[in-house]
Amino acid sequence: METAEETSAKVSKRAARTHGQGPEEERTPPRAVIRHADWTVQPDHEPDAKPHTYAQECDLCGEGSTRSTDQEVGTLWILEHVRTNPSHHSYTQIVKRTFRTWMR
Ligand SMILES: [Zn+2]
Repeated sequence: METAEETSAKVSKRAARTHGQGPEEERTPPRAVIRHADWTVQPDHEPDAKPHTYAQECDLCGEGSTRSTDQEVGTLWILEHVRTNPSHHSYTQIVKRTFRTWMR
């Protein structure tokens, strides 16, 4: 009966034969370098963060407002759009906000 150590040695030799092409490579089997890193992702609230910007888009025809840091610009655009397109009742607000990530 073979020991766990002997089994392990056999597996190593087989791995070297499988991966190696010649005598030199059998002595240096391929290795993988795996690095573990923890990253954090959060909305950017730093003083130098870009401001949030907003736009409105009509869900029926695809027309849209200009992008602005003031949400009211989009709301006023909807009111103007529905005045000239009385059957367009659905809109989507598109918000852009920045995020930050860093390694812990
Ligand atoms: Zn429309």
